[in-house]
Amino acid sequence: MNEDKTVPYQGFSEEPLTFQKVDTHREDTTLEQLLPTPEQEKVEKYIYEKTMEQISKYNEQEDKEFLESYQKELMNEMRIFLYPEPILRQICSPVEEITEEIVKFCHDLHLYAKKSRCLGLSAPQVGYPKRIIVVNEMIVGMEKRPHILINPVISNASGKSKYKEGCLSLPGIYAQVERVGSFDITYKDIEGKEHTERVEDVSKEIFGTVVQHEIDHLNGRLFVDIISAYEKDKVIKKINKLRGKK
Ligand SMILES: [Zn+2]
Repeated sequence: MNEDKTVPYQGFSEEPLTFQKVDTHREDTTLEQLLPTPEQEKVEKYIYEKTMEQISKYNEQEDKEFLESYQKELMNEMRIFLYPEPILRQICSPVEEITEEIVKFCHDLHLYAKKSRCLGLSAPQVGYPKRIIVVNEMIVGMEKRPHILINPVISNASGKSKYKEGCLSLPGIYAQVERVGSFDITYKDIEGKEHTERVEDVSKEIFGTVVQHEIDHLNGRLFVDIISAYEKDKVIKKINKLRGKK
């Protein structure tokens, strides 16, 4: 990755959180309850329209200056980069030093995840190609897990688990994804301290699915890359429909 292309993170203004806690984790929760609420759909639609507007401008003008100002604008307002933006395919670089800028970014990304009511979010999704992920602890079952994970690494993985996933970078797309069933996760917190936690059974703990999904983002991988051919076919049709193609 070329460091020169990274736009410094500028921050965005904080607004009070008003939405309610979402329970996606209890044993009696059905998959239907995990689908977006009308409020979340509105947020997704807004993000999608705004970003498409920016992308269409970008296609008309290819100069570097414009691209930089476009990225800066997105960073300031922390908007989501949508598929097929190239940054979603980039391998993100590790955080070498936890600077003030990194700490501010982590807090903003974490707040943005809560405001967006998503389960988790990764730095490249807001245009910052560093190995940082966050989880939304307002989702029941994630309160006791870490919320900001820097340079996360999965090890000692075994077993399998399936879950219907979605992604803010692919609004309106949902598919069954198979992932590992148990693993260790090692990460640094914003103070630079290293931790390792065990996730014993992903089918019983949403956190296990979320961190696997977000770490994939750091390696340029999207959930639609690892679904079955049947699910992929449905997803491609949905993407084309969203883009107004037949
Ligand atoms: Zn995602």
